[in-house]
Amino acid sequence: MKKILFSIGILSAVYVQAQSMKTTIDLTSVKDDKIPVKIAVPKMKNGDAKFHFPKTVPGTYSVDDYGRFIEGIRFLDAKGKELAFTKVNDNTYSLKNVQNLAEVSYFVNDSFDDEMNAEKHKAVFSPSGTDIEEGKVYLINTHGFVGYFDSMQDVPYQLIIKKPKDFYGTTALVDQDKSEDTDTFTLANYAKLTDSPLMYSKPDFITFNAGGMDLVLGVYSPTGKYKAADFKENLEKMVIAQKKFLGDMNTNKKYAIMLYLAGTDGPQIKGFGALEHHESTSVVLPEMMPKEAIDETLTDVVSHEFFHTVNPLKTHSEEIHYFDYADPKMSQHLWMYEGGTEYFANLFQIQEGLITKEQFLQRISDKIKNSKNYDDTMPFTVMSKNILLDQYKDQYRNVYEKGTLLTMCLDIELRKLSNGEMGYRDMIRKLSQRFGENKPFKDDKLIDELVTVTGYPQIKDFYSKYIAGSEPTPYEKYLNMVGVEIKKQETPPILWFIKDPNQTGFNEKNSTFIFDESTPLSTFAKKIGMKITDEVYAINGKTIDIQKVQELITYVQSIKPGQNVTVTVLRKNGDKTDKIDLKGQAVMDKMTLETLDFKANPTAAEQKLQNQWLTGNK
Ligand SMILES: [Zn+2]
Repeated sequence: MKKILFSIGILSAVYVQAQSMKTTIDLTSVKDDKIPVKIAVPKMKNGDAKFHFPKTVPGTYSVDDYGRFIEGIRFLDAKGKELAFTKVNDNTYSLKNVQNLAEVSYFVNDSFDDEMNAEKHKAVFSPSGTDIEEGKVYLINTHGFVGYFDSMQDVPYQLIIKKPKDFYGTTALVDQDKSEDTDTFTLANYAKLTDSPLMYSKPDFITFNAGGMDLVLGVYSPTGKYKAADFKENLEKMVIAQKKFLGDMNTNKKYAIMLYLAGTDGPQIKGFGALEHHESTSVVLPEMMPKEAIDETLTDVVSHEFFHTVNPLKTHSEEIHYFDYADPKMSQHLWMYEGGTEYFANLFQIQEGLITKEQFLQRISDKIKNSKNYDDTMPFTVMSKNILLDQYKDQYRNVYEKGTLLTMCLDIELRKLSNGEMGYRDMIRKLSQRFGENKPFKDDKLIDELVTVTGYPQIKDFYSKYIAGSEPTPYEKYLNMVGVEIKKQETPPILWFIKDPNQTGFNEKNSTFIFDESTPLSTFAKKIGMKITDEVYAINGKTIDIQKVQELITYVQSIKPGQNVTVTVLRKNGDKTDKIDLKGQAVMDKMTLETLDFKANPTAAEQKLQNQWLTGNK
């Protein structure tokens, strides 16, 4: 009996060996900022085949076309003779008669250097992007480096990274060779490969155990301002808290955090944040942030990514389970995948005592405010399903705002229905027990499944109205149930470039204001023909000195409606940048600010529900 089992093991090991896509990424041969990649392909059946790079990857919800960064691709037979191919689009190559194919080789250009070039193509979100800084850092989001044949997505990949001796790769993967010049990893299939990012740099990492899980944090800080050890205490506290919050919902034994801090000398990037993976997360933040701000952001961002291990990484619909990298189908449930995850990332902080209840309420209040930048009557399920299309993609950011609020209201609804016994977290736990890693749910059956696992058919009504319907969610009604009141206040009229001035960023290199592409322009900006990708260089000739930004704001506030205003912007025009004056009369926008407060005299029922909401206790 044993022998038979043993021999089967051997055979499958041999089979795996013979069948793997042996992929070599050579960090030691950078040429013109590009890295050579070679994939030794196992023998394929004769016939046609398509070789792809992903159009998008799980978790990003945007069309990124990673094939754009590939150059000099060659398909070779065993003797090194080139086979003919047709380039179908940015991501796809088509070949005929592939039985002699032995190797694919190409160069990879990084996406970081392309981020400010958003006129041609929307930039890749930095944490899912690639960076090649010879001798300094290599951010290897594997989906940007490695392609696949459509018939061979389930074939194992052997990943070999040739690296400078003194470089260390932060990753959740385990290096299988002893050599200092190479790291070797085996991945079960293409999906596992793309789930496994790596960051190579001069070693700066710490390992520790928290909440029963082994963690590695690797940091790239270009000026050396920060060391991995600086962030240990905060991370440890956070991880222990979130493991406690999740209980048996999370079974991770290890987790890797790649923290890339962007300096002013390196590539100009703006996609700060993080991307989730089963056993790791890649985080990109500006190095100029003070330590306290990085700690706070890491708590918010890393916990968010870690909560993704619950969903969509583990519990998800078929669209995600059978992810189509070349022609992705989206799920309707970003309200749960992103909204619910962001809700967890805030809720665990109040429930585990990392923030005060006032801070928690401030976060909810900010989300209500931010959600007003988006279309409140667009059904969330429709937006989610169509998120890759142009007319919906600008609504994406609302998943972190309204998505969170939807799950918060559902949490309160469930607690109200169950007399405090059941909340959103309990519902997700039950859902993850019913489905899981190897058992996706049917996308359009989710609400029925949620009714089944909770036993409350009333939540279908909530879902139909506020999540799948066009009715704006009555936040006031739900917050009132937990003893919170909303006070409304109008801001003074302001002249600015985007609807919500708080979403303004700063480009240190050009000393310009920059804006996220998904942020709506202000009435004034639209009137003068500004584009969201423009960088604001000067207002009425006054340039921007970030040290004296308050003076500039005071000046802008002194501008009267109807007054002539000239805004100087930097606008990308192919490879060059034009400096353009946009002129028009000032138009002010007003915002209604809503502040949330705990009621001074809540009813006993409101107080009870509030306690259950904020502590998670029954
Ligand atoms: Zn997320």
